[in-house]
Parts: sequence; C-alpha cells; structure tokens
Amino acid sequence: KADLSRIVNSIFNDLEHLSKEKNIKLINDIPEGFLIDVDQKKFDILLKNLIENAIKYNKPEGSVTVSAERKDGEILINVTDTGIGIPKESQPLIFERFYRVDKSRSRNVGGTGLGLSIVKHIAEAHNGKVEVKSEPNVGSTFTVRIPERRDG
Ligand code: ATP
Ligand code: MG
Repeated sequence: KADLSRIVNSIFNDLEHLSKEKNIKLINDIPEGFLIDVDQKKFDILLKNLIENAIKYNKPEGSVTVSAERKDGEILINVTDTGIGIPKESQPLIFERFYRVDKSRSRNVGGTGLGLSIVKHIAEAHNGKVEVKSEPNVGSTFTVRIPERRDG
C-alpha cells in the first residue's frame, strides 16, 4: 500500500518552482500513515495533474489544499484551490481530451488539455471516479473517489 501523505509531499516538492512563481501556499492536510491500495505510479500521475492544475489556474498568493477521508468503504481525496474557477457550462467538458476553458486565457499557461482526461482514466482504472465543484473567481475542488479495497 502507498502512503498518501508522502506521495503528496513529493509532488509538492516537484512542483515547488511553479508555486513559488505566484507565491502559492501548498497545504498537505493528510495524516502520515494514511495508506491507500492503488497502483502507485498511476496514482502519482493522477495527483500530479490535479495539483499542477490547482497551481496553474490559481491566483497570486492563493493556496492549494489536499485532504482525504474514508467514508462508506470509499476513499475521498480532495484537491482544493483558491483560483479562477470553472464556469458551470464548462464543467462537464473539462474531462474531455484537448478541451480547455477559454483558449485565450489558457494560452498563457502551457498545456495541451490532456491532464484531466488522464486523471479520469486513472480514477476509472481504480473503479473510481473524479468530480468537480467550482465557482468562477472563488476556486475549485476536485474529488477523487475510489473503493478502499481494489478487489472490491
Ligand atoms: P495539460 O494538463 O495537458 O498540461 P491543461 O491543464 O490545459 O493542459 P487539463 O488539465 O485537462 O488541461 O484541464 C482542462 C482545462 O480545465 C484547463 O485548460 C482549464 O481551463 C480547466 N481547469 C482544469 N483545472 C482547473 C482548476 N483547478 N481551476 C480552473 N480551471 C481548471
Ligand atoms: Mg492540466
């Protein structure tokens, strides 16, 4: 099993250069020893994509918080940012390949629009899913839900 808090810390380290550019605070709210039954390589990619987005689409002096809980046989992992948010009509589309909200807006921040389609694919490979709650100009929370046990 993988230690979720350690995974998050190492991704925070990898992305420090990005967060420092805008002075964004990275907050790991996961207790040490929170073990999850996942394909660690794939899960690293999933979390890295969500955390990278939370930094890229944030505001200067904003924050990114990662938290997790166990509930009804599931593990819920939340990545919350204080960024630009996503308009309601775009929310169902962002998980599609190459979709980016407002091309002119996202031209400034590098990317191809593949990250969230990969996140969705990896969540589903763990019999889970990914959901978004977001409000323009306030921020977004992406929640990954997976069963506590991979074998059901
Ligand atoms: P890539 O991840 O391939 O480098 P990308 O970040 O543009 O490029 P996705 O991660 O798939 O692609 O995200 C799709 C679009 O959803 C983004 O272009 C952005 O418009 C929007 N988006 C994703 N995450 C957030 C977020 N946390 N806050 C606001 N908008 C977001
Ligand atoms: Mg991305």
